Amino acid sequence: MKYISTRGACPEQNFEEVLLAGMAPDGGLYVPAELPQFSMDEIRSWKSLSYPELALKIITPFIGDEIEAGALREIIEESYDGFDDPDVAPLRALNQNEWLLELYHGPTLAFKDFALQVLGRLLDHVLRKNDQRVVILGATSGDTGSAALEGCRHSDRVDIYILHPHQRVSDVQRKQMTTIAGDNVFNLAVEGNFDDCQRLVKGAFADQGFLPSDRQLVAVNSINWARIMMQIVYYFSAALKLGAPDQAVSFSVPTGNFGDIYAGYLARRMGLSIAQLIVATNENDILHRFISRNEYAVAELTQTYSPSMDILISSNFERYLFDLFARNGTELAEFMARLSAKPRAENQANLSVSKQQWQQVRACFDSASVDDETTCEVIAEVFASHGIVLDPHTAVGVKAGRLCNQDPAVPMVMLATAHPAKFSDAIAAAGVELAALPRHLQDLFDREERYTVIANDLQAVTDYLKHHS
Ligand SMILES: *Cc1c(COP(=O)(O)O)cnc(C)c1O
Repeated sequence: MKYISTRGACPEQNFEEVLLAGMAPDGGLYVPAELPQFSMDEIRSWKSLSYPELALKIITPFIGDEIEAGALREIIEESYDGFDDPDVAPLRALNQNEWLLELYHGPTLAFKDFALQVLGRLLDHVLRKNDQRVVILGATSGDTGSAALEGCRHSDRVDIYILHPHQRVSDVQRKQMTTIAGDNVFNLAVEGNFDDCQRLVKGAFADQGFLPSDRQLVAVNSINWARIMMQIVYYFSAALKLGAPDQAVSFSVPTGNFGDIYAGYLARRMGLSIAQLIVATNENDILHRFISRNEYAVAELTQTYSPSMDILISSNFERYLFDLFARNGTELAEFMARLSAKPRAENQANLSVSKQQWQQVRACFDSASVDDETTCEVIAEVFASHGIVLDPHTAVGVKAGRLCNQDPAVPMVMLATAHPAKFSDAIAAAGVELAALPRHLQDLFDREERYTVIANDLQAVTDYLKHHS
């Protein structure tokens, strides 16, 4: 499989190159040159496969023969072996035709484990083969960090640096990152917000001169294609359980960086019959404003109860926009330049797509923005009616799914993206009994933390990396 950049100005790459890259050199993101297509018969034939078997069917076309089939099977099986539910991604019934897709049974209790458990092992495999070492650098709004550390720390071929916004992640999220021991593990608490962390990471990737000449940076954020690829699988898995391909299914997806919902969009384009794809945002609603009003504009950041979605610009949205711009990288590059070049006030008024493009967007996605108060109401209501404690991100998805649902006869799957024990603030605010941490994390608060507070400054970050790698 070949990969191309969304800005259209750099050569095609193979899977291995894309795995080891961050952004494309022209500032774009890598996407497959062509999407694999699965027929209804083929999808139907997957009904009795285990989760790892299904994953192999779906990702093999994206990798081709670059990783030997036996090795790939082993990587996938090991990755999902550590999940604490035999189903890996179990569905739980809520109301009539309403389902929760539980994506928090991995080691760090959020859906990020689905991709990062695999990504860490894929990297290790490739680095061994090439006898190579790399530096992993990532920004996290809370959940990516621990999942990346957990997925990659066993490789002796990586040093891993994770930037999180100082005092803006939950206690459990911070502890999950900073209590991971290892000489190759570095946690940096940046005096800024998540977008600042993302900007610092982008800056470091753009000029890697501070690294020794035999090292390169590898991205673990969802700009890394391999993450998106792994997330396509659970859309197929859930839909198959609900009658696909003979029954269409809808999904409501709590989203910040547009990674998870983009995987759903790809599943649809690969042949899965998806009725509605609902973009569920918190008060940081750039995506909702775009989908509902054709207004693509950066706003002020609001800190909410769902911190993993507290972002201003959704980096993966560019991958969707590439299709919307009929895969014209030059036009997309111009559009993205207007977004970053304009001063905020002017930018807020202006950036939009053509009427025809916007109609395409609306045919593809529905959206809703859910505030903190409503999030807490949903947590309280679902606990009262079902005895289920939702995490705040999931609650945003549940509410959006209910607001946007156009056909109660179609199963509505709401993605449960995290375990509620990660976000006790919101659960307490909702007046619901706190969820206990699973057994393997019960002594989390007794473990020793290690992290460094660092200025919101690129030079400070690259100096730190230089002195530690
Ligand atoms: C990362 C995360 C999200 C948002 O996912 P995106 O891929 O960035 O859209 C939602 N919920 C939880 C719990 C997360 O960790």
